[in-house]
Amino acid sequence: MKPLDLLHKVYGFTSFRPGQEVIVESILAGHNTLAIMPTGGGKSVCYQIPALMMDGLSLVVSPLISLMKDQVDHLNQLGIPAAYINSTLSAKEMQTRLADAARGVYRLLYVAPERLESDRFRQLLYQVPLSLITIDEAHCISQWGHDFRPSYRSLAQWISTLVQRPIIAAFTATATQEVRNDIAQLLSFQPKHIFVTGVKRENLAFSVFHGENIRDFALQYLREHPTDPGIFYCATRKEVDGLHQFLRSRGFSVSKYHAGLTENERQQAQEDFSFDRVQGMVATNAFGMGIDKSNVRFVIHCQMPRNLESYYQEAGRAGRDGETSECILLFSPSDVQTQKYLIEQSHMAPQLKQNEHQKLTEMVRYAHTQACLQETFALYFGDQPGKSCSNCSNCLDEGERTDVTVEAQKI
Ligand code: ADP
Ligand code: MG
Repeated sequence: MKPLDLLHKVYGFTSFRPGQEVIVESILAGHNTLAIMPTGGGKSVCYQIPALMMDGLSLVVSPLISLMKDQVDHLNQLGIPAAYINSTLSAKEMQTRLADAARGVYRLLYVAPERLESDRFRQLLYQVPLSLITIDEAHCISQWGHDFRPSYRSLAQWISTLVQRPIIAAFTATATQEVRNDIAQLLSFQPKHIFVTGVKRENLAFSVFHGENIRDFALQYLREHPTDPGIFYCATRKEVDGLHQFLRSRGFSVSKYHAGLTENERQQAQEDFSFDRVQGMVATNAFGMGIDKSNVRFVIHCQMPRNLESYYQEAGRAGRDGETSECILLFSPSDVQTQKYLIEQSHMAPQLKQNEHQKLTEMVRYAHTQACLQETFALYFGDQPGKSCSNCSNCLDEGERTDVTVEAQKI
């Protein structure tokens, strides 16, 4: 069966999205493959289809437990034998799953990178015929990335010690040229097997607003969009609590999510939002990685995030279904001070701090640029210059400005 047939038969999709097919083919041709594709671009299909077509097991390294469970549930619903192994399982369940994996029961096995640091687990893995190792969110490998995880680094080291090397496929939504080079070097990818699907998301309308009152803005937005599901991101738990309470007191149905809540509360909030039992979610950046809600119509950042990678990833949770959606950044100069402070307070090496400050500068530049916002992202992430989106607040302003000039000329 060909990849396209599987896409029809297993997933029920009529055609590949941009970039998907070449990535699938590269992996199937036995190349270590790195794919940079925007959030919602459809990365999962790119490694799941090869996993179905290859002999042996595909190991998928994925950073979050919640993400893993969703993916595996989804695969099982599609009738694909898959499982995950993580800290929520008992030792006995883990043994059983590994034994099943060794017997070839599963096509895909999801694990967190930390698991591969265990010698015992590595020993067990040696008994399993591995054909493909997929590394999701591969930017976590690079210390220049925005979510560096040391366990990703040791994963790369472990892979380099394997005698029988499976094919490696790495995926990320956000990788600057620097991060890309880092990933390619650590996992030995050749440039010709690195695929970059444009970071532009045509259905997203980006805008930046300066000097807005956050609560008034949120209130007004919900009034004007009474049926749109969306997310308000705040920088701190306190801001989340405050905005959440305020919106509820005005009669809007919103949940909240941050790391200060119990596991149960967070689970409940996530489900309420996922199943449209509430309209909005007020959250810190603890919320999001791995939520698979396709109809998020807006993502409003009440404070500026610390860099463009984080911003693009969080904002990119809007409009995964391809429908028009809004990504709004509310900028206030005090956000810059907050982020500077957070960087200084963190326990990073001086060089990394300097790097973070540099990224913050780029983020601030985004908030002030008059250029197309989509284009600003695209250039930041190493795309070739392209045409303006005519959809972001800057492009629309530009439109207004020219109109005014034309009017003026007429007069
Ligand atoms: P990513 O991991 O890149 O953020 P996903 O793999 O989660 O994205 O896919 C995002 C959404 O796009 C999912 O709902 C998925 O089912 C859908 N999708 C992926 N590929 C296709 C396709 N070829 N045609 C239609 N929908 C697709
Ligand atoms: Mg994904």
